[in-house]
Amino acid sequence: MVAVGLERVSKSFGPVDVIHDVSFGIEEGEFVVMVGPSGCGKSTLLRMVAGLEHISRGGISIGGRIVNGLEPKDRDIAMVFQNYALYPHMNVFDNMSFSLRLAGVAKPEIRTRVERAADILGLRPLLERYPRQLSGGQRQRVAMGRAIVRDPKVFLFDEPLSNLDAKLRVAMRAEIMGLHQRLRTTTIYVTHDQVEAMTMADRIVVLQGGRIEQIGAPLELYDRPDSLFVAGFIGSPSMNLLDGRIVDAGGRRVFRTDGGRVLPLPPRADLPGNDVPLVYGIRPEHFRLGADAPEAIEVEVRLTEMTGAETQIQAGFGQDRLVAVFRDRLGAAAGSTLAMAPDLDRVHLFDRASGLRV
Ligand code: ADP
Ligand code: MG
Repeated sequence: MVAVGLERVSKSFGPVDVIHDVSFGIEEGEFVVMVGPSGCGKSTLLRMVAGLEHISRGGISIGGRIVNGLEPKDRDIAMVFQNYALYPHMNVFDNMSFSLRLAGVAKPEIRTRVERAADILGLRPLLERYPRQLSGGQRQRVAMGRAIVRDPKVFLFDEPLSNLDAKLRVAMRAEIMGLHQRLRTTTIYVTHDQVEAMTMADRIVVLQGGRIEQIGAPLELYDRPDSLFVAGFIGSPSMNLLDGRIVDAGGRRVFRTDGGRVLPLPPRADLPGNDVPLVYGIRPEHFRLGADAPEAIEVEVRLTEMTGAETQIQAGFGQDRLVAVFRDRLGAAAGSTLAMAPDLDRVHLFDRASGLRV
């Protein structure tokens, strides 16, 4: 069943259109991540679902009911913000129970619900503390607790982890996923961080400029990006993208970059025609070392970085720059030449004019 539906939703602030005709459905229990660069409209979309922002055109439904005209409190949602928005003069118990008291829930019921949420989040020992006496991670947990006690149909998260340091962010990410596995509440989670999107989502909605670029499971987006934008946005380090076109060379077809270097093409019958401006995409992790393969290319090493687990090479390839990541330890000196072969099954081609996959 569709838990949250967006049907041709648009939004304008005065004369400025910021959301264009966005449609998608979220299944009951699904964890959907909306990801995209700053300013692409993530918060605006989420706030429209929450009822904090008026919808200019289109419709939003929650649990099969159109909610366009409903106040936030009548939508059966709970939202967690980036800045926690805790009441500083209330202790944790009162922060978590605030909305229940407003809704007139009976006291014993409030205590049961708050204590259950506190147990889920490990907040039991902190119920008497004030926000200033908590760490950033603990405050974020209280903000989530406040959402959980309401037992809503849908959780909405707007970049809830971006104020936390890197280590805590990874830990809280795991907590939110654990929480979702336990409660199975339908969730829309907004982030600009593609790693968060990849690791947390059942499905990712990639937004750019107020439009949906692509919707899919994380590995679908990684394996088969529909556009240059998604290709460059998903994956770290990001995909190498080289401008050029297909040419005939000695009885076979190859890709020649604008800088005049040659790359082998994937074994496909439906390759685009010669002389169409294209972009050749290959992820840093999809090269193999060695000169023995017929499809090997030679690059000029500029920088070698070893993290212990892997070696990252930044190299020149004609006028282009290529990044490659290997599991091997590799002491390639700057200025030396390195032979490596792209995995041809993992080469992506895009039409340069439209930006679309071909
Ligand atoms: P994101 O959350 O993806 O960073 P937002 O949804 O906050 O992006 O903003 C999307 C666009 O809408 C931006 O260009 C932003 O400047 C604009 N915008 C957001 N809120 C308002 C507002 N209240 N009035 C005018 N423009 C706004
Ligand atoms: Mg935002």
